[in-house]
Amino acid sequence: MTETAAEAKPTSAAESKDLVETLKAEIVRKLTYSLGKNPSVAQPHDWVTAVILAVRDHVVDVWQRSTHESYQTGRKRVYYLSLEFLIGRSLADALNNLGLTGPVAQAMADLGVDLGAIETIEPDAALGNGGLGRLAACYLEAMASTGVPALGYGIRYDHGLFKQVIDGGKQVEVPEDWLSFRNPWEFERRESAYQIGFGGSVAATEKPGEVVWEPEETVFAVAYDTPVIGWRGRDATTLRLWRARAMHPLKLDAFNQGDLVGAVAERNRAEAISKVLYPNDSTPVGQELRLRQEFFFTSASLQDLVRRHYRQFGRLDNLPDKVAIQLNDTHPALAVAEMMRLLVDEHGLAWEDAWTITNGTISYTNHTLLPEALETWPVALMERLLPRHMQIIFGINARFLDGVRRSAGGDKVELSTISLIDESHGRRVRMAHLAFVGSHTVNGVSALHSRLMQETVFAPLHAIFPDRITNVTNGITPRRWLLSANPGLTKLLQEVCGPGVSDDITQIHKLAAHSGETALHERLVEIRRQKKLKLAQVIRHETGVVVDPAALFDVQIKRIHEYKRQLLNILETIALYDAIRSEPYRDWAPRVKIFAGKAASNYGTAKAIINLINDVANVVNNDITTRDRLKVVFLPNYNVSAAEIIIPAADLSEQISTAGMEASGTGNMKFALNGALTIGTLDGANIEIGERVGADNIVIFGMTAEEVEAAKRDPRPTEEVIRSAPHLEGVLDAVAGGAYSPRERDRYQDLVAGLRANDWFMVLNDFESYRQAQRRVDALWADQASWWKSSVINTAHCGWFSADRSIREYAERIWHVPARPAPQG
Ligand SMILES: *Cc1c(COP(=O)(O)O)cnc(C)c1O
Repeated sequence: MTETAAEAKPTSAAESKDLVETLKAEIVRKLTYSLGKNPSVAQPHDWVTAVILAVRDHVVDVWQRSTHESYQTGRKRVYYLSLEFLIGRSLADALNNLGLTGPVAQAMADLGVDLGAIETIEPDAALGNGGLGRLAACYLEAMASTGVPALGYGIRYDHGLFKQVIDGGKQVEVPEDWLSFRNPWEFERRESAYQIGFGGSVAATEKPGEVVWEPEETVFAVAYDTPVIGWRGRDATTLRLWRARAMHPLKLDAFNQGDLVGAVAERNRAEAISKVLYPNDSTPVGQELRLRQEFFFTSASLQDLVRRHYRQFGRLDNLPDKVAIQLNDTHPALAVAEMMRLLVDEHGLAWEDAWTITNGTISYTNHTLLPEALETWPVALMERLLPRHMQIIFGINARFLDGVRRSAGGDKVELSTISLIDESHGRRVRMAHLAFVGSHTVNGVSALHSRLMQETVFAPLHAIFPDRITNVTNGITPRRWLLSANPGLTKLLQEVCGPGVSDDITQIHKLAAHSGETALHERLVEIRRQKKLKLAQVIRHETGVVVDPAALFDVQIKRIHEYKRQLLNILETIALYDAIRSEPYRDWAPRVKIFAGKAASNYGTAKAIINLINDVANVVNNDITTRDRLKVVFLPNYNVSAAEIIIPAADLSEQISTAGMEASGTGNMKFALNGALTIGTLDGANIEIGERVGADNIVIFGMTAEEVEAAKRDPRPTEEVIRSAPHLEGVLDAVAGGAYSPRERDRYQDLVAGLRANDWFMVLNDFESYRQAQRRVDALWADQASWWKSSVINTAHCGWFSADRSIREYAERIWHVPARPAPQG
């Protein structure tokens, strides 16, 4: 373990010795009295648990003070609703933020245990698929770091995202079991349990306009709280995850009659709700269980926050003054209907008053414009599962459409384009429209994405609510992604930019003044080399492939998806392989192509792409002629902890999505902050990275979003596209003909035929432009002084992508809560 970035304040030697002694005693006490283990027989797992429990006590002190303070002062609080929180490990992050990394490592060393060696025993909390879930985790930490009182609400899945194993080049999914050794971070709150209803019927009462919903089925949502500590341990936020429990876990009468299955049927049905995270990304899940999950956590969260508010203030009309609810995508969009139900049915408010409160409280973040990815649910399913909510949605829709019809120019509006109900595909509820209409503010996650929201998918709604859509470009927490993941670089930055850089990451701009200095470059090269050595070890351990740390590490790590275009990357890799073989004596820049990422289990094309990458790796890595110039690696089981190792070791960051399809990306920010150069399209936040680092320090290629749209309206003939890219035909023929799958020659026939039939993601269209961009990368790499100058400028100008900046924007422009300003320095 290295020294932590938080320990800027020098303490006396005696003080730090005291601290280490105290920590030692705390850890041994946990081991002895909480785990019942004697230090002499404790296993590594016991030690990690003991450390976590000891550190958790420090976190809890901050947490209770922070929560108590915001409660006492009646401050407005943010509730962040997200079906996913991709947290990863928490120990290193907590130690780093508390400034305890060094002291705890020392305490453990005194006890004869190497903390660095056992930290990896903590399982990754993988309660998310990718960027959307990781964003939620970064934001909870950033809210703690900027002093925004907040609670994240989600589901405590028994099984997070599957573990990926590569077997014979193919992805195999293995269930994930992060709770198998319990979760030492969490607190179960049996007292915070809510009843969640499903099905049944709605009946009118004697009172005119009043109805009661009699659910057919009720399950309990039980809260589990985890504190999230902010930078320097000043404040903490709460992650509250809901677990589903049956009202009657065991039907004794059934059991007594010998019906063992029937005795636990209700329990199984209830507990299925929080059993497993749906492995999906950018394609909605249509199953009923998913809708049950969405309603389950949304209802529990709203009941919880409304009860807390009512207890404190005894009234609900001031809810928008005290509560901001952020919907992370449409998964919690039912919050709009559930809030109306709570206010109207349970608290007896008039519809109009309830609507004012609902709309004044909720805001919504959109994460995708891909039409196939926009969530809709059949009206018939919604009526069966949530009859009262369906009525409310119809009520919202009727009033909304009526208002538009009667407004000036309303006769010109095509109502079917704005309705909450899509009538063209067999009556479905458009969740994005529900979220949009029910929110006071709707945001996109990059400048391009927010503009496209206004111009495309949401154009009709935008015309009616021209002030509703705004942009907040995504951000990443620099604590995890720079200070903790790259302590070597952090130390250098503190030397060059001053110790204040860890409190205000934007101070790294001071690095730019030194961008051309050889001495700086030499130190950066050495920091990177150490990280590449470490990654090379991991690669060898995981795949058996030996790579040279002196080669250019060219990295694409993210979910496997057609729009992210790993296929474009591997096809270009094949072209490069061919080129090296045909001119083996040229001075090719040695490269290691590194891929990692999971494919949704039902996404056949994505799985074929993984297979192809592994097949190409197998051929290339065993070819003697290219041995020291090109290696291809697919690292299995991409997750947060893998990203923390890979990103600081990357020279080149592949951000090559089809323009207009990647809403923002956050991987791109992590790489650039750590000094990798980006090769990318004009998509998502790549554009804003380019604006900050300048055109000379990013390698841009390919069609723009507008050109992609035009090409879709009026496609060029495939044969013409292929002819205009000199190397493409040969690559496609080789793949389709089985050159990389000799034992199953038709393995990629469909994949290639699909590309030729319909190049929806512009892989063929962008191929030549991408290939030439890669040769520009070669030239830049050959000139190491220029390369490192660009690298310095990337780090220096990417402090803006801190999640603290994003959170301050949300706080000021959307939530209207005060955030601690960045320290001046
Ligand atoms: C940052 C991150 C992502 C998002 O990566 P993109 O390249 O923006 O898609 C996905 N998964 C993990 C584990 C991450 O850390």
